[in-house]
Amino acid sequence: MNKRFWARIVITGLFTVVFTAVSACSFFNSNTHEPILEGPTNTPAASNTPSPTNTPVPTNTPTPTSTPTNTPTPTNTPTPTNTPTNTPTPANTPVPEEFMPAEPKREGFIPASEMFMPAYFAIIKERLQTYTDDKIGNALVNSSFASYDTPFNAADYSDYKIENGKVIFTFAGKTLTGTEHPTFTYSCDLAEARAFMLYDEEGNPVNRPLIRELDPSKKMIALTFDDGPNPVYDPQISDVLLKHNARATFFIITYKCAKENFSRSVLNLRDAGHEIASHEYGHEFFYDDTPKKKIWTEVNRANLDLAGITGTAPRFLRMAGGRTTDYLKYVPMPQIGWTWGSLDWESRELQPGETKEGRYARKLAQTYKNVTEHAVDGGIILMHVNYAEEPEAVDKILDYLDSKGFICVTVSELFYYKGVTPVNGKRYSDLQ
Ligand SMILES: [Zn+2]
Repeated sequence: MNKRFWARIVITGLFTVVFTAVSACSFFNSNTHEPILEGPTNTPAASNTPSPTNTPVPTNTPTPTSTPTNTPTPTNTPTPTNTPTNTPTPANTPVPEEFMPAEPKREGFIPASEMFMPAYFAIIKERLQTYTDDKIGNALVNSSFASYDTPFNAADYSDYKIENGKVIFTFAGKTLTGTEHPTFTYSCDLAEARAFMLYDEEGNPVNRPLIRELDPSKKMIALTFDDGPNPVYDPQISDVLLKHNARATFFIITYKCAKENFSRSVLNLRDAGHEIASHEYGHEFFYDDTPKKKIWTEVNRANLDLAGITGTAPRFLRMAGGRTTDYLKYVPMPQIGWTWGSLDWESRELQPGETKEGRYARKLAQTYKNVTEHAVDGGIILMHVNYAEEPEAVDKILDYLDSKGFICVTVSELFYYKGVTPVNGKRYSDLQ
């Protein structure tokens, strides 16, 4: 236990009590994420329910998660047929020895900007935007804070404390991007927040990407697999990767994880040492005229879903179809494109006279050719998990890459070994 850290938290807490005693204060309703005002004059609960309703499970809490309640049907994707069941409790996987040791403990009070992933502030911000209380909500709704054009400003969240299973943010009057509002507090579930925290309450680093100790002089390439989970092909692809001592990154469409075996497949990939990233909630294609709120909701919900499954929020985002729009610079995650696509998704219809076996062989050869002809150091390769020939294609591709001296790494490893710090809102197609 870090005494200085806690002393700072307690002091901050005392000030917050004083501030909030003379102003509106909100308390968190753990069932709905709704802020509820307490006080003689301000009692109505907010009327809008924020759309992400499922509660993520933290890694180090053995309690089973609550079930996602209302799973909205994505417009351009098949409706999940199963009712969501219990999300499996994340396994507390010990970090394999081959991974780099964690950085030393951080002493003292940790600023919010270093304590939480930026994606967490986006979630808080979205909830505050639905905070419709007369006294505060209108002030927020009419402010630049709520405009979606200022995704987050870490300074807005600088006054926080952790106590009694809550993360409590205090927003002093007029601090939110110059908005006229009284001081208020907003409390969030600590169990949920843990997935977005980069240190625990004692200042120990947590939720760091796993980086293997590798020879930095070697050529490196990142295979990335979109559109999973797929409980049939995920384990086959993972086994092939591990056979070659390769790791990959899986970009997950999270509405699919409502099915227990699909979310289990994500956990198994994580446990095998692969990186889990976001491919949005509903695989919606975004365009320049897509409402900004829609983009936020899709991205935030996917982050909450993956945090709930693995206990760690994803670091990276790939928009469906690799879409880029002007607005994406406001999304507080680094976005990953690709250097070269395997084209495994193209011309999948049976050709005249072609059998399924014939198509398998044709696509296997095409995927192999497309990847191996464009393998470059620092490259990011786009593949998909949903095709029968994919595991065998990966095996043959890895034979080739091994023979050419490539190491297949996760996206986090590629950034690490290429010495690039990923920047939120920026899109990366390669790290050459
Ligand atoms: Zn996709």
